[in-house]
Amino acid sequence: MNVYLDNNATTAVAPEVIEAMLPFFKELWGNPSSMHAFGGRVRRYIDEARQHVADLIGADRSEIIFTSCGTESDNMAIRGTMEAATERLNFITTRVEHPAVLEPARWLKARSHNVIELDVDSEGRLDLAQLQRALSLGPALVSVMWANNETGVMFPIREIAELVKAAGGIMHTDAVQAVGKLPIDLRGIKIDLLSLSGHKLHAPKGIGVIYVRKGARIAPFLLGGHQEGGKRGGTENVPYIVGLGKACELAQRNIAEEMIRVAVLRDRLQKGILEKCSDVRVNGDQIHRLPNTLNISFLYIEGESILYHLSDAGIAASSGSACTSGSLEPSHVIRAMGVPFIAAHGSIRFSLSRYNNEAEIDYVLEKLPPIIRKLRDMSPFGRT
Ligand code: PLP
Repeated sequence: MNVYLDNNATTAVAPEVIEAMLPFFKELWGNPSSMHAFGGRVRRYIDEARQHVADLIGADRSEIIFTSCGTESDNMAIRGTMEAATERLNFITTRVEHPAVLEPARWLKARSHNVIELDVDSEGRLDLAQLQRALSLGPALVSVMWANNETGVMFPIREIAELVKAAGGIMHTDAVQAVGKLPIDLRGIKIDLLSLSGHKLHAPKGIGVIYVRKGARIAPFLLGGHQEGGKRGGTENVPYIVGLGKACELAQRNIAEEMIRVAVLRDRLQKGILEKCSDVRVNGDQIHRLPNTLNISFLYIEGESILYHLSDAGIAASSGSACTSGSLEPSHVIRAMGVPFIAAHGSIRFSLSRYNNEAEIDYVLEKLPPIIRKLRDMSPFGRT
């Protein structure tokens, strides 16, 4: 049996999405900017896709700009806002963001911007009083992710956006892991900029979106053509835009039911692991957590060894550790939460999708415990 539980890394492209894209490789390959019929025929499909994206997040179609990925959207939000600002802004973010935000933060720091990285507690939660103190230092662009890719911990985005706007700041959220997994309605939330990425919601890799609220000032990141209202030059990737539109339409169709179904499966997995394996610890706030994500540490063993054995059994998951220059370092998220060394190294992320089922979870619960027992017996950490 093959069980794919690494959906926060990437998702399978939905069959309906592939179907929707195919005509745009075969017959409808015109350039949407062309004056002739080849182009004109294609243009309206971009508009339709834009509408589907807008509907999924409660935005207006004019506020949706297609990009190449979540990373581009994050970079554009941060660097584009800083460039367009009429005054020098502080940049406030968190220690647990994706590198697509943390690297632009470093870039800003190198250019003498005041960059403040907010801490999280042992459950991965933000201290809103610390945010308020940071906001009191002057005008700021704030970038706080909606949900964490490693732990699934969800930040209180509505509350954060209220605080940011009350202080006169600009609010960006990296919602790459949230869109398609949670109902989102930007009509009731004071967010100026939001990033999303197609391949996290069953569209292909290489297509993303930045939502720019009407009136928000943002300089283009790519200089070039007039596409996307002059905000993002480059001939449109029509097949992928159409694919993303279809993926958004599918996600919206039954998001509330799917959320519950996936959470039930995730909880079955968590409960089974806690019952069948000793010395485990769930990482991150279990109440404010994405319905599809479980980050769990198996004490005294290396995450990479677990992944290797799981992979042998046909199971794909992911480790919270990154292999840096030959040493196995826990990820910046796990470190920011202060997870003890002995647990940090054995952290595994299981992330589900609407394509998983109960039989797959039970298969993991059959294969995983003997792997853990075997690795514990060989543990280099000397557990007795
Ligand atoms: N932000 C978050 C939270 C992510 O999880 C990812 C991808 O893993 C990205 C941004 C980057 O998205 P993309 O792979 O489309 O560049």
